[in-house]
Amino acid sequence: MANILLKNVSKHFDSVRAIDQVNFEVKKGEFLVLVGPSGCGKSTLLRSIAGLETITGGQIHIDDKNVTETHSSKRDLAMVFQSYALYPHMNVYKNLSFGLETMKIPKNVIDERVQKAAQILQIDQLLKRKPKQLSGGQKQRVAIGRAIVREPKAFLFDEPLSNLDADLRVQMRVEIARLQKRLGATTIYVTHDQVEAMTMADRIVVLNGGRVEQIGKPLELYNQPSNVFVASFIGSPRINLIKLSELVELQNAGKAVIPEATLKTFEDKRVEQIGFRPEMVKAETKVSARDLLIHTEVSHMEQLGSEAYIYLETDHNINFVMHNQGQQHFESKTKLAAHIDLGSSHFFDQSGSALVIKNNLV
Ligand code: ATP
Repeated sequence: MANILLKNVSKHFDSVRAIDQVNFEVKKGEFLVLVGPSGCGKSTLLRSIAGLETITGGQIHIDDKNVTETHSSKRDLAMVFQSYALYPHMNVYKNLSFGLETMKIPKNVIDERVQKAAQILQIDQLLKRKPKQLSGGQKQRVAIGRAIVREPKAFLFDEPLSNLDADLRVQMRVEIARLQKRLGATTIYVTHDQVEAMTMADRIVVLNGGRVEQIGKPLELYNQPSNVFVASFIGSPRINLIKLSELVELQNAGKAVIPEATLKTFEDKRVEQIGFRPEMVKAETKVSARDLLIHTEVSHMEQLGSEAYIYLETDHNINFVMHNQGQQHFESKTKLAAHIDLGSSHFFDQSGSALVIKNNLV
């Protein structure tokens, strides 16, 4: 397995900057997820690494060798597409073996690799079937199998689970993550789904408008987002965001209490927005000195059995969500004093960059 290094990679389509000066390294055996909203350049970046797009600027290195000008067929990477891209007239065995035959690999080696991959992916009973006789999940396994038998330097996945239903997506998510660890395979995986990114990645690259917003381990991005974009993109339900000016307005109207020293720190540091995850909101009566208090009314609640989302609003049109464990019920219109733990909150300046001021709070 290989390491992959991107140095200042850019890709322009005429006036569209699909990828803009991207730098990162995927270590040997690492599972790296590229995540971001539609159109942020994930697929273009993956296709550039695969050699399916010619980059406009920068360099791509695989195993410390500059492959920027190397043809895709010589990069020794295996790509798995959302569309599976199976040959419809070939059975599963042939779909798995075909690429190896064209590489002139001896028949017994091919058979050994196909049988092993089929066993790993639990498709050994399906080798004689044609793709149209397979379910979506089985087709996706064959597509992954075709990548495995090539024993490539790295795997590149482009939204491989998007065509599957919700249950199967969760199942395949677990299977791919386990398989990746079992094979120790360097993997770059593209998705727009932050849950897939959080649950599968060793590290995540968050892309936005062709640029890298942040690179880090899943919990680093969740706990220390470097800006509002990452804070909002990672986490479901989304992080709650309130402007400091709105909070001050609420306080002036007697609807909120901001600890005095904290407010001074916020003003000194020019805090523009405060972000707090739904699980940081509590409806307890015990207020800590560093809590922010907001008087709200319950507008709606979603009870999921083990947990619940409670949608809160103020009469100043500020809405946010509380995440509760368990089955405590709140009627609509219930008055609720929401306590927000400022020690675990996030603070952003006017440009949306995160401010590190937690330790200064009382
Ligand atoms: P999605 O999740 O919707 O697939 P993505 O993050 O993979 O999106 P890309 O498909 O990489 O995004 O596209 C990035 C940008 O480049 C978009 O603005 C897209 O319109 C543009 N783009 C992609 N391919 C081409 C092309 N062949 N010609 C012109 N523009 C393109």
